[in-house]
Amino acid sequence: MKEKVFSGIAASPGIVVGQAYLFDVEEAAVSPHPIPEKSVGAEIARFEDALIATRKELINIRQELADRAGRKVTDLFDAHLLVVEDRTLIAEVVKGIEEKRLNAEYVFQSVIKEYTKAFLQVEDGYIKERLSDIRDVARRVLHNLTGSKRADLASLEEEVVVIAPDLSPSDTALMHREKVVGFATDAGGKTSHTAIMARSLEIPAVVALGNISAAVSTGDPLVVDGTSGQVILFPSRATLARVKREQTELLRFETQLEELKDRPAETRDGFRVTLAANIEMPEDLPSVVSHGGEGVGLYRTEYFYLNRVDLPDEEEQYQAYRKVAKTLHPASVIIRTLDLGGDKFNSALEIPPEFNPFMGWRAIRFCLERQDIFKTQLRAILRASREKNVKVMFPMISGYGELKRVLRIWEETKNEIRRQGVPFHQDMEVGIMIEIPSAVVMADELAREVDFFSIGTNDLIQYTLAVDRVNEKIAYLYDPLNPAVIRLIDQVITTGHRHNIWVGMCGEMAGDILSIPILLGLGLDEFSVSPVIIPEVKKLISSLRLPEARELAQEVLSYRSADDIRAAAKKVISRTAPRLLKAEQSRVRPAGSG
Ligand code: PEP
Ligand code: MG
Repeated sequence: MKEKVFSGIAASPGIVVGQAYLFDVEEAAVSPHPIPEKSVGAEIARFEDALIATRKELINIRQELADRAGRKVTDLFDAHLLVVEDRTLIAEVVKGIEEKRLNAEYVFQSVIKEYTKAFLQVEDGYIKERLSDIRDVARRVLHNLTGSKRADLASLEEEVVVIAPDLSPSDTALMHREKVVGFATDAGGKTSHTAIMARSLEIPAVVALGNISAAVSTGDPLVVDGTSGQVILFPSRATLARVKREQTELLRFETQLEELKDRPAETRDGFRVTLAANIEMPEDLPSVVSHGGEGVGLYRTEYFYLNRVDLPDEEEQYQAYRKVAKTLHPASVIIRTLDLGGDKFNSALEIPPEFNPFMGWRAIRFCLERQDIFKTQLRAILRASREKNVKVMFPMISGYGELKRVLRIWEETKNEIRRQGVPFHQDMEVGIMIEIPSAVVMADELAREVDFFSIGTNDLIQYTLAVDRVNEKIAYLYDPLNPAVIRLIDQVITTGHRHNIWVGMCGEMAGDILSIPILLGLGLDEFSVSPVIIPEVKKLISSLRLPEARELAQEVLSYRSADDIRAAAKKVISRTAPRLLKAEQSRVRPAGSG
C-alpha cells in the first residue's frame, strides 16, 4: 500500500508507530435471515449467551476501573448493566425471534432502534443521556452475537493507535497509556478538553484530520506524530527510519531537559517566574513531580463528575483535594471550582443539550443556580486548606455583579464551616479566571475584589475571536498570536499589577513556544501548563534575558498582524533556543492561518 499523509492539529506531543484501531464508527445495519422453526430455541439461547457475555464484559470493566481509577467512575457501568438486565427489552427480543423467526442480531437491532426512537422523543435531559448507554451496550451485544471483536478503550489487550471520528473528554479519560500509544481524530481542536486530556495522559495525539476515520481500517500500520500534527498511513521504510531517528533525538533532548528539573524557572539574568502544572485529577500528581512543576496552577475538578451517573460528595472531593495539597506542600495548589458544560457533561446533572454549549449554562453560571452542588465543593476545598497552600479560583466570571454573588456564597460557606468548628485557612487566596472579554474590560473593578487573576486563554481566544475552540473547520482562525489577544493579555496583566495582584495564565497559550517570550516580557507572573511540557517551557525561559523579552513584548504590542508577531517571536527564539524552534516549525499550521 502506498504511504498516505494526513495533516491535522498537533494535540499532544510525541511520535509513535502502531496499528490502527477504529473506534466507535457507526454500526453497519444487520440483515435479516430466516430461522427454521426447530432452531428458534437455539437462536434465543444464542441471544441470551450474548447478554451474559456482555454482562461479564461490563463487570470486568467496572472492576478494572475501580482498581485503576480509585474513584467512583464505575457507576457509569452500573447504568450499562441495567440495560442488559432490562426485562422488557429482553422479552421483546425473545418474542420477536419467536414470532418473526428471524435471526437474533436483526431482531435485537430493530428493538433497539424502537427504543432509541422513543428516548429521542422524551424532553428530559437525563433520559436523553441514557441513550448513549443503550447504544454502547447494544454495540457490545451485537459484537458478542456476531462474534466480531470490539475492544474497549479501557480494556484493550493490544497496543493500538485509536482512530475515531471524535472522542469525548470522558472517552479519553478511560485510555491507558500502555495500550493506547496514540490517537487521531477527524474532529477537534488543540484546546478541546480531549486534547488537553491526551497531554495530561502523555498520549501523542493529532486531531482535526478531516476524514481519517473513513480512510483507515483496524490493523493498518500508521505513524502518529503529535509534535508536527501529521498521521502517516502505510508508512514507507524511509519514513519508518526517519521516525526512528526522530524518536532517538527526542529522547536525547528529553534527557537534556531532565537536568533542568530541579532548577527554578528563571531567565539568564536571574528573573524568576512560577512554572506550575495543570492537572485533571490526583492521578496526574506523579507527572507534576517528575517534570518539576512548582505546584498546581489549575486543578480542573470537572473530571470528578465525568464517567459516572451520580455526583461526588463532599468527603470524596475533600480526600482528593487534600491528597493533592499534601503531596505538593509547600507549593501551592489552585483548585478551580466546577466548570461543567461546554464539552464536559455529567449524566446526573440534566444539563440540557444547547445550540452553543460553550456560551451556555456552564461553569459558574451552573454553580450559581445549583448552589447545593457549588457549596458542597466549596466546603471540601475549605476543609482541604489546612496546610495553607490551597487557593480557590472561579471560572467564567463575566462581570462585577456575578463576582460579588460568588464571593457572597464563598463567605457564607466560610462562616458555616467556621461555626461548625472545622479548621481551614482563614485567609485563603481567592482568584478568578479571566477568560471572557467582558472580564478584561472590567478588570479594574474585578481586581479590587480578588487576590489574583489567571488568564484562561483557551476560552478567552474563542470568545474574543468568535472561534469555537473545538471546531476544526475554523481552527486556522484560533490564534494566540492574534494582535487582539496579545493586547487583551497586556491589559489584564497591567491592570492586575496596578492593583498589586499577581497574574498567571493557565490556558494552553502559557505553554506555546512562540508566545512564552512575549508573555514573559508582558510581565506574566505564573505560567501553568500541562506537566509534560514543563521542561520545554523552563528551557525556553532559561534561555532568555528579561530586557530582550520586554523589548519583544513592547514591539509586538504595536503590530497589526499575527504573522508579524510570529516572525518577531521566531527571531528571538532562533537565537536563544533553536532546538525548541525546530520542533515548533515542524508543526503543520491549519491552512489559511496567518
Ligand atoms: C481556559 O479556558 O483557558 C482554561 C484554562 O479553562 P478550560 O480549558 O478548562 O476551559
Ligand atoms: Mg476555560
